[in-house]
Amino acid sequence: ILNGKVALVTGSTSGIGLAIARALASKGARLMINGFGDADEIAAIADDLGAIHDGADMSDPDAIGRMLDRCAAELGGPDILVNNAGIQHVAPVDSFPPEKWDAIIAINLSAVFHTTRHALPEMKAKGWGRVINTASAHSLVASPNKSAYVAAKHGVAGFTKTAALETARDGVTVNCISPGYVWTPLVENQIPDTMQARGLTREQVMNDVLLAAQPTKQFVTPEQVAALAVFLCRDEAASITGANISMDGGWTAA
Ligand code: NAD
Repeated sequence: ILNGKVALVTGSTSGIGLAIARALASKGARLMINGFGDADEIAAIADDLGAIHDGADMSDPDAIGRMLDRCAAELGGPDILVNNAGIQHVAPVDSFPPEKWDAIIAINLSAVFHTTRHALPEMKAKGWGRVINTASAHSLVASPNKSAYVAAKHGVAGFTKTAALETARDGVTVNCISPGYVWTPLVENQIPDTMQARGLTREQVMNDVLLAAQPTKQFVTPEQVAALAVFLCRDEAASITGANISMDGGWTAA
């Protein structure tokens, strides 16, 4: 269903972004992937997906511009832009390191603006485009100690609505997906430390700490998020724009 489409997925060397890149490639899209990691592992992913990798740092607007230029020159497009790269830092406001605040706002929020402003002119000219932002349940509700992340994700939700209104007559949709806790290596790697720090079992950490706010007591899977991203690319999803679609096991219903 995505033959002939070019997709650029930021932060797609791991976790949710990688699952989205795999799903879009499996539907026929040609991919530019982005993100950090081991060079051999990234080369293997690119090879597997027939994708081009660009290592642009999403905190660097110039590097973002060069990545979009390269995508247009080597693949065309992008017709599908998935803004997924993101980082987290956990600390109370009065001891939150200002440089961590700046990095989270740059990567999780400002990068979404920079990629989108470069991608929109060609999408509008073609009369078809999809911008999909990985927001978070934290685009709708807050948790303590995540001020920068919550501010950035609320910002992504607001940016999504604005860009959707501006492109509503252009065949372009702009939406965000807001997952709860997703089972990624990032989350899995927190378990041993939390077990040790709090003297809990693996099951207690998963149910009482990580899934405390998720009524289903099930992690969202990266593949579930990816399937929704694929759906948003379909022509049947042309009327879904400016939406913030939750996939959080009921978290934000509570
Ligand atoms: P992850 O750490 O597995 O993947 C993050 C990706 O972003 C990696 O490819 C990494 O290399 C890349 N990245 C990080 N900093 C970058 C930078 N400066 N420039 C370019 N790439 C960079 O994390 P994930 O859990 O897959 O998270 C992906 C997105 O989903 C993030 O925006 C995150 O906020 C969001 N999210 C995650 C969860 C969750 O529970 N895992 C829940 C809700 C939302």
